[in-house]
Amino acid sequence: MKINVIGAGLGGLLSAASLAVEGHEIEVFERLPITGGRFTNIEYHGFSLSTGALHMIPHGSTGPLGNLLRKIGADVEIVPCEPMAMIRIPANGSNNYKSGFKDISFNQYGSQFSMWNRLKLAILLVTTRRWPPKNISFENWIRKYLNEDSAHKTANSFCGWALSLTNRDVPAEEAFEIFENLYRYGGTGIPMGGCKGVTDALVEIIRSNGGKIHKSTEVSQIIVENNTARGLIADGKKHYSDVIISNIGHPFTRDLYDSGTINNAYEEKIDNAKPSAGIKICLASEEPLIGHNGILLTPYCRRVNGINEVTNTDPNLAPAEKHLVMAHQSVQQEKIDKLEEEIEIGLQDLKEVFPNKKYEVILTQSYYDGWPVNRASSGSDIGNTTPINSLYVVGDGAKGKGGIEVEGVALGVMNTLDIIKQ
Ligand code: FAD
Repeated sequence: MKINVIGAGLGGLLSAASLAVEGHEIEVFERLPITGGRFTNIEYHGFSLSTGALHMIPHGSTGPLGNLLRKIGADVEIVPCEPMAMIRIPANGSNNYKSGFKDISFNQYGSQFSMWNRLKLAILLVTTRRWPPKNISFENWIRKYLNEDSAHKTANSFCGWALSLTNRDVPAEEAFEIFENLYRYGGTGIPMGGCKGVTDALVEIIRSNGGKIHKSTEVSQIIVENNTARGLIADGKKHYSDVIISNIGHPFTRDLYDSGTINNAYEEKIDNAKPSAGIKICLASEEPLIGHNGILLTPYCRRVNGINEVTNTDPNLAPAEKHLVMAHQSVQQEKIDKLEEEIEIGLQDLKEVFPNKKYEVILTQSYYDGWPVNRASSGSDIGNTTPINSLYVVGDGAKGKGGIEVEGVALGVMNTLDIIKQ
């Protein structure tokens, strides 16, 4: 089959590489002069910063992405995070980090609850796996069953780090699907070489299997005849194919064609799928600020949800003797026009999290609208099919259920490949 792919982000490259390995004729069209989309590196004074992701793979080498990379022979090493995550809690029962703090492991987090809540948590961990909660937000679920302020804060910090949402915006069902996947696949990992280590390996597979990647080539139209995608127009030229895979999300894909009819159900789903926004602050330091390669969740910060220090896995992501530390904070839609204030609060948070430590802020980045943290916030994904035959959407606007970020991208790609092969 001849397959055209719109966009060389992770989803587009994963689809293209998987299909190229199976012997299909592949052409990828990318409007930017680089490949990788929000999953590649930006070199800055010897630091490998990134176009989006925090150089982390939610389920490491044993999750959907790790498994798919292995299946297609991608030359990527994913190092497990040990510990997976620590939680920074204030000392002396205070409500902030100003008078001190301690870090406890994610697995032992429940031990600081009251005896009654510990018992309830143990029962809930079993019952929710069997009967996942329906029609309730994660926030309301926690308030209903645990009534612990610290549990609410930690859930918020986890959702902010993993999904760039508050726990109010995450359906409890989706949150438990994510926890289920943590049991099923295991915890986080960091790819050697960071995000670019992964996307460059996929580019290599596509090219070595005869696929073509056209950079700096924007797709301006999808050619639709009789409700079926026949090809696309890029740089004024027509490129015909049997199948089109779009990596640019459902709304931008829909804007590229005119099928002559409006599918109201599809339009409604597009309206309901909201992107999630966030801010990333990159720090450089000479001494380790965290000291391990897992996530440091910071539930008592006003804005920062979590922080990592990827140089504890791959020292080459920073110049010799330096560390790269990245902090993430979610941004609510109503705060998008106040990004500078949000960044300032995040910077103040970091001073409290790292008192008496010397570091330099090397970059602050904000992500929203067309370059968000997630094109469809978790729980609002639309799926991989479109109302047009032979036109599919992959990427984080079309993730698989319970798949955190790039794991959801991989699940969506696998689903799309299955449909195409039917
Ligand atoms: P995208 O990255 O959206 O790529 C789409 C590509 O299509 C782009 O290259 C774009 O230029 C191109 N394009 C658009 N329009 C056209 C057109 N008309 N013609 C041709 N090309 C076009 N995930 C994790 O798993 N771990 C993390 O640590 C993590 N941290 C994150 C932190 C931040 C701050 C952000 C922003 C994201 C983070 N994510 C993380 C999410 C992860 O980066 C994304 O889910 C993933 O990279 C999305 O990939 P995608 O397949 O949707 O493609």
